[in-house]
Amino acid sequence: MVVMKFGGTSVADQSAIERLIAIVRAQRQADAQQEGGDARGPIVVVSAMSKVTDRLLGIAANAGAGDIEGAQNNLRELRHRHIAVSTVITDAVQREQLIAFLDHEFNELERVVQALAVLREVSPRWFDAIAAMGEILSSRMVAAALTSHGLRAAWIDARRTVITDGEHTCAVPQLPETTSSLMINVDPPLAAGRIPVMGGFVGATSDGVTTTLGRGGSDYSAAIIGACLGAGEIQIWTDVDGMLTADPRIVSNPYVVPHLSFAEASELAYFGAKVLHPATIQPAVARNIPVRILNSHRPQARGTLITAARPTSERPLTAIASKKDVSVISISSTRMLMAHGFLRRLFEVFEKWKTSVDVVTTSEVTVSVTVDDRRRLPAIVEALSQFADVEAEHEMAIVCVVGEGLQTDPQLIGQVLQGIGEVPIRLVSQAASRSNVTFVIRESDLPSALARLHQRFFAPVSAPAGLA
Ligand code: ASP
Ligand code: MG
Repeated sequence: MVVMKFGGTSVADQSAIERLIAIVRAQRQADAQQEGGDARGPIVVVSAMSKVTDRLLGIAANAGAGDIEGAQNNLRELRHRHIAVSTVITDAVQREQLIAFLDHEFNELERVVQALAVLREVSPRWFDAIAAMGEILSSRMVAAALTSHGLRAAWIDARRTVITDGEHTCAVPQLPETTSSLMINVDPPLAAGRIPVMGGFVGATSDGVTTTLGRGGSDYSAAIIGACLGAGEIQIWTDVDGMLTADPRIVSNPYVVPHLSFAEASELAYFGAKVLHPATIQPAVARNIPVRILNSHRPQARGTLITAARPTSERPLTAIASKKDVSVISISSTRMLMAHGFLRRLFEVFEKWKTSVDVVTTSEVTVSVTVDDRRRLPAIVEALSQFADVEAEHEMAIVCVVGEGLQTDPQLIGQVLQGIGEVPIRLVSQAASRSNVTFVIRESDLPSALARLHQRFFAPVSAPAGLA
């Protein structure tokens, strides 16, 4: 059985939901045709329609500020948008029922928001109750839309099905409890040949208090549901073709990476485009369930498959991630560097100013770190200057080259560094796992360095080798 998760842009309006219906229908047909295959399902997990969660958080902020009018205007717009999209439900009775549901939920939300606006306080518990509405509404809408298009669906309320701890806004699903409640709520409709549809991002404590799993949490929901039910595959339907070999804004001819190991995906996400945050699919990968990233605008494209490990490919490198606009801070102290406690003292400064560092290298007398958040840099430099010489360079870029070939071929790292051409390299760092090498160059050198690297290591296989 397959879990299909559709992100916000894949349920954004009538035509997006129509595409979703066609995709689910095709999956169902493929499952039915598979000999000896599991004809149950799929299970559909959806995000809120795009931008709805932001709007709901805005409404919570309106309420906290006592801005009743602002909250009401926002709520009215959201209600109209949902009612407009509900025309995708072709069956009159189904649509009437959905509109009645929308009215009920929006009236309730309006009452809650008004009360909170009077108190001018939104506790984490109410904050989650408001934020969860986007997925509750979109999932109910998609269930009705599927049914009215001949794919009998069953709406499952995630607030009764995904059981989490009580950490509001970043709740963690509890696997044993969620497994039992999925069996109670999802197995019967599956057995009856229906398609369970539920909202991602949303859960509840075992006492029934609504929680949310953190921004982008629908991927996490899909992974948890897939892991609990032992799904055969989890599909993440989004609006891009998958993970690319390089940033398309910098390199002219990147292509979709067909298969990534979980470790590679994690390295890439750390610095690169955030198609999906690999940490959110970890529960599925840990149970050996393949996760596939697919484009709902181009369902025929193969997408990117992420698995715990992957078969070796003919290419030594998998992809290049990059990040612009970083600063390198070099901290030198001939007196202190080798003294114990120096690094602790140094990192305490970054911790105090809540600034995270990405790349770290140390030499005999210098520690260099990169940061991308410059807001507190003057204070950080001042604090570090109390005990070391500090130098900051801006407009730098991080390049992270990922590929399991780096583990097996000791020559490769040299070829990579050579491959960028006559570009001064500021820092180099290689992880212990050795499936990546990260280096820092000037931002102005980034386009040419990436173009050369991409040409050398990612040119079509049929092209003459050794182009540099
Ligand atoms: N709707 C939520 C968000 O915007 C969760 C998700 O889309 O994954 O963060
Ligand atoms: Mg997302």
